[in-house]
Amino acid sequence: TDNIAYARSLIRTIADYPQPGVSFRDITPLLADGRAMHAVAHELLVQAQGDFDVVAGIEARGFIFAGAVATLARTGMIPIRKAGKLPKPAHRVTYTKEYGEDHLEVSPDLKPGMRVLLIDDILATGGSLKAGAHLITAAGAEVTQIGVVLELEGLGGRLVMPQTRALLSM
Ligand code: IMP
Repeated sequence: TDNIAYARSLIRTIADYPQPGVSFRDITPLLADGRAMHAVAHELLVQAQGDFDVVAGIEARGFIFAGAVATLARTGMIPIRKAGKLPKPAHRVTYTKEYGEDHLEVSPDLKPGMRVLLIDDILATGGSLKAGAHLITAAGAEVTQIGVVLELEGLGGRLVMPQTRALLSM
């Protein structure tokens, strides 16, 4: 839609951040725009086709979109957090990042049998979404839909998480 093209036009590219040679896609101008945010949240909801009963978001920017979609859908939202942030983690997964290992954790609010729409801001290598999906499965819940605002091409995420629906790619 026009509104999604408009949202795309707001994504800012920062050369050589956080390292030389990397083009960082900065979504903060999109967050700051009401029309773009509403359009993105609405499209994430539409593309999920009602096939979920709770929305999970990956820390930190996934929280923003997951919360917006959950509000539109009138469902709850489950934060999938980095290690050590939750007072009562019920499940944890370990995953490999560029430099060493990291963990994702979820609270006991994610119940067995829940059908989950998993949301993040960006699909890059797919490592974060893969770990998030693994965690949801470990909790006995089911990942029925995966949505991101932006897919970065050429980083392999599409191969790792082929079921991901992306609103935009660049
Ligand atoms: P992946 O795990 O490699 O797919 O990376 C996805 C995660 O890294 C997402 O949670 C993004 O927030 C973050 N990320 C990767 N590349 C970018 C970027 O260019 N801009 C902003 N965030 C990024």
